Amino acid sequence: MLPLVALVGRPNVGKSTLFNALTRTRDALVHDEPGVTRDRHYGVCRPEGQRAFAVVDTGGIAGEDEGLAGATARQARAAAEEADLVLFIVDGREGASALDDDILRWLRKASRPTMLVINKTEGLESNAVRADFARYGFAEMLSISSAHRQGIDDLIDEIIEKL
Ligand code: GDP
Ligand code: MG
Repeated sequence: MLPLVALVGRPNVGKSTLFNALTRTRDALVHDEPGVTRDRHYGVCRPEGQRAFAVVDTGGIAGEDEGLAGATARQARAAAEEADLVLFIVDGREGASALDDDILRWLRKASRPTMLVINKTEGLESNAVRADFARYGFAEMLSISSAHRQGIDDLIDEIIEKL
């Protein structure tokens, strides 16, 4: 069985775009209709000359509310809990938010190995972006742009090193 990497983060940070960049498919976006991407979505990243790993794109985690958002949150938690590595995805343009704080709180309880990945950083000054997330206490923070495929190869190297 392939090791499993879970993409976790609040809605709209770019999880599905990253999923596509890692798995080089458009599946995650094709199904990006409300109620359709609520389920977990699996793919495989096969980097040339390196070991393959599975990726799961989770729905955004939208707090503790009931209904669809609650079900989505439970799916995402279940995905994170079965993963070998969690990528906690945040938005470098919007900066750290209260919802990011909440997600990190339960991710710590899940106690899976976790990497902080700052997306949407194209054209931004990387020290300023990192400073905003420094309080989360990650030893390393990876800056990427999923939409522009910047930092994806470095991210894949870091993932493989930790699996
Ligand atoms: P998800 O809800 O976390 O799955 O986020 P999506 O992958 O659906 O992306 C949400 C929005 O952010 C879409 O409009 C994407 O085009 C945009 N987006 C994703 N990655 C990037 C990026 O690297 N830079 C910028 N500027 N926008 C991005
Ligand atoms: Mg999505």
